[in-house]
Amino acid sequence: MKRKKKFSVVDIVIVAVVLITAFSALIFINSLGNAGNKVEISVDGEVYKTVTLKTDKKKEIEIKDKNGKVTNILVLENDTAYIKWASCKNQDCVKHNSISKIDESIICLPNKVEVRIISNSGVEDAAW
Ligand SMILES: [Zn+2]
Repeated sequence: MKRKKKFSVVDIVIVAVVLITAFSALIFINSLGNAGNKVEISVDGEVYKTVTLKTDKKKEIEIKDKNGKVTNILVLENDTAYIKWASCKNQDCVKHNSISKIDESIICLPNKVEVRIISNSGVEDAAW
């Protein structure tokens, strides 16, 4: 019966170790998830431009429609992306918070513009 008690102490240690390991793994996975470093800009369902998220200085990208008219202005700053100006009426895309993580996106429905953070390794190209 003493043996059982000893085991429970060992169990606690094992559980603690497992928890710490799992926690570290979670942090690691999270940091991987944050490693989105490309911004894909789509207009009307087609990729308009893919740019690197990380920039040394503030960068502005004009997004134009098929007639060459500027519909949205995207700003890359401090490893985040946001829409600074848009020609749409609702201005939802301008009000949207800046994005920086993979799969976060800003969509401007009236202008059919989508700005999405994608991973540098090009997950979509991988054959599953
Ligand atoms: Zn908009």
